[in-house]
Amino acid sequence: MITVDPASCVLCGLCVGVCPPNALELMPDRLEVLSHCTECGWCVPYCPVGAISGGRRVRRLRGSS
Ligand code: SF4
Ligand code: SF4
Repeated sequence: MITVDPASCVLCGLCVGVCPPNALELMPDRLEVLSHCTECGWCVPYCPVGAISGGRRVRRLRGSS
């Protein structure tokens, strides 16, 4: 599953704009992953501080299934 590390996230909102199904919502104090996230992993490499982890794309790049 997709997880956001609240300690690392700087709430820049970059990931929100790249999510295909708009499943990320920037709250005043945190980033929320909404239930319709497909776990595609597309948002993961866009985070400048590496706060997002998980998703199919990442697992594939790491070579595991
Ligand atoms: S994993 Fe895909 S669907 Fe889920 S928040 Fe990231 S970009 Fe959006
Ligand atoms: S791109 Fe990273 S730091 Fe910016 S809001 Fe998304 S998770 Fe937080």
